[in-house]
Amino acid sequence: MLDVLKLRKDFPILKREVNGKPLVYLDNAATSQTPQQVIDVITAYYQNYNANIHRGVHALSQEATDKYEQARIKIQKHFNAAKSHEIIFTSGTTHSINIVANGFSSLIKKGDEILVSAMEHHSNIVPWQMLCERTGAELKVIPMNQDGELLMDVYSELLTNQTKLVFCNHISNALGTINPIEEIIEKAHTVGAAVLIDGAQAAPHLVADVQKLDVDFYTVSAHKVCGPTGVGMLFGKEEWLNKLPPYQGGGEMIAEVTFEKTTYADLPHKFEAGTPNICGGIAFGAALDYMNGIGFDAIASCEHELLEYATQKLLQIEGLKIYGTAKEKTSVISFNIEGIHPYDIGSILDKLGIAVRTGHHCAQPIMDFYKIPGTVRASFSFYNTLDEVNVLVEGVKRAKMMLS
Ligand SMILES: *Cc1c(COP(=O)(O)O)cnc(C)c1O
Repeated sequence: MLDVLKLRKDFPILKREVNGKPLVYLDNAATSQTPQQVIDVITAYYQNYNANIHRGVHALSQEATDKYEQARIKIQKHFNAAKSHEIIFTSGTTHSINIVANGFSSLIKKGDEILVSAMEHHSNIVPWQMLCERTGAELKVIPMNQDGELLMDVYSELLTNQTKLVFCNHISNALGTINPIEEIIEKAHTVGAAVLIDGAQAAPHLVADVQKLDVDFYTVSAHKVCGPTGVGMLFGKEEWLNKLPPYQGGGEMIAEVTFEKTTYADLPHKFEAGTPNICGGIAFGAALDYMNGIGFDAIASCEHELLEYATQKLLQIEGLKIYGTAKEKTSVISFNIEGIHPYDIGSILDKLGIAVRTGHHCAQPIMDFYKIPGTVRASFSFYNTLDEVNVLVEGVKRAKMMLS
């Protein structure tokens, strides 16, 4: 078992108050909090070796380059990529997906089909719609049931020789569903389609092994795994990354430039134009070190306990309905109370120092599916406690009393 009270001391922000009440932070699916160990790495970078990478002969630049490349190798090892140049540093999941969607513009043509799941984040819908507009390809949706589980038989029927790409999140940020990505990937490969798995919501809860999964692309944002905002990664199989044209032109991504012609640099630099978020990349590596130090098995069992306890307590409130009741789910609870707007509940919880998310969670199609304007979403991390769940439950009861 985790010593959660000890772990909480690593997070300075968890000591603060909001509206005169101790902060109860339950918006971890939007962004995680940052431990002192990661904050120290960020501070050390700017205090000791801030320099641009890959270009300078001077000591600071060398040091920054070494640390940045060491972080890439940490990330490679964490996700078990075969090669470090299959890890591209990006500004986050959205950027990673756009690199792939843009790259496929030249590989997709009219008549081709792209499949996305019904429970995608907008960042995994809009880039593909834009790709379809540019190319004339068709976007098809893998539907889900009322529990928020994908209909895998329909998926099998949708896969044809026209299917070129399949996109799905590993875990839904709005419902918490853990999708059967092994099966999704395996089936897509039987028709020769490439698969991108959006791992933004999975990375805080479990470790994906990209070789074992045989996934073509996998994306992560550092700010959801105790790292800073504005940095993330795109894993891509070497053969795919070599096939895709670069997304942005600029410095760092070229081999040779003349006004007649430019040749691109090798991987990973081909996709890393301009000065990257150097400090962020290094801190991303430190964040994975921090989480591995705790251990993902311990994290998963702690979060599972929070999920079970909170689900059972919340369901005792009359009129409360939970959206997302998949058998395989992580510590996200989306709910509404009959007759009350989610925003009103969220506002009252905020007055009580409780941070939850309200709205469509960047997944409007899911809300349309359930015919609701949005939900209140409480998402738990390993540093949350059962006491905090009790504070949430009391807060929801109070909000219900005030609003009905
Ligand atoms: C957070 C999230 C994203 C977007 O990540 P950014 O860091 O905002 O780019 C995409 N997909 C899922 C499932 C997410 O949870």
